[in-house]
Amino acid sequence: MAGILFIISAPSGSGKSTLVNALRSQVGGIDFSISWTTRQPRGSEQTGREYHFTTREEFERMRDAGEFLEYAEVFGNYYGTARRSLDEATAAGRDLLLDIDVQGARQVREKVTDAVTIFVMPPNPKVLRTRLRNRSRAEGHVDETVLHRRLNEASKEIENYQQYRYILVNDVLERAVAQLEAIVVVERMRRDGKPLDIRTKRDFEIAESCREVNSRVRLQPVLESFGIFPDHHPQQYSLLEAKDDDGTDRKSAD
Ligand code: ADP
Ligand code: 5GP
Repeated sequence: MAGILFIISAPSGSGKSTLVNALRSQVGGIDFSISWTTRQPRGSEQTGREYHFTTREEFERMRDAGEFLEYAEVFGNYYGTARRSLDEATAAGRDLLLDIDVQGARQVREKVTDAVTIFVMPPNPKVLRTRLRNRSRAEGHVDETVLHRRLNEASKEIENYQQYRYILVNDVLERAVAQLEAIVVVERMRRDGKPLDIRTKRDFEIAESCREVNSRVRLQPVLESFGIFPDHHPQQYSLLEAKDDDGTDRKSAD
């Protein structure tokens, strides 16, 4: 039976890696594609575990040799998914999860039209700012330029949310993990043509609540907090003005 290709995208710091790690520890049978990148490892990251870290020259060689299913330049670095990841998962009939940005997701959707796409949003800019900063601190290095760049990119990425089948708001972690699990369960049942039973009926309701069409009221305050008004252009809003969760203006505090 063919595996399912899951694509998950989110602005940096939304908690995507945290969600994916939780999913992987609780749901079996899903492979995770380790991307190639030219960015430097952060904190305890190791090549071959979080990413295959490589040089620009090597990345460009692989790109020119057609080795990538998709690739994109994000925050000044290349990121790409090796074609081999999908080929291997397909050959083994296993599900595969890609953690890629909105540009990469667009490229893959054109090639794999039945890919299941999931977009993760942070609840608001203040929470995003706090998460990015806390993560940098935990990794022992707060780079203000990188932090500001990632914050400023967030609303541009969120503008693409309607291109995804499911939308999660990663506010309460346990709830977001349960939603992600429900999406995987329901999509597998759909592929297998299995009927709903008592447990999967609940999963179905949870997954359906994450469909874009069913999320509009829930998403409105989140989108507005990022200066996004559906069917309108985003208003000028500087995320750099946002304060941290505790109300401190960390920009001046650091
Ligand atoms: P991403 O992979 O989207 O860049 P991470 O998974 O690295 O983001 O999460 C960024 C930071 O936010 C991490 O320090 C993580 O522990 C924290 N985090 C993630 N999800 C939540 C959540 N629901 N509530 C509080 N903190 C969270
Ligand atoms: P980070 O540097 O925080 O790990 O990732 C930055 C961004 O690059 C995130 O949005 C992440 O999803 C994206 N990304 C990671 N791997 C890939 C990839 O293989 N392809 C693309 N297009 N984006 C990726």
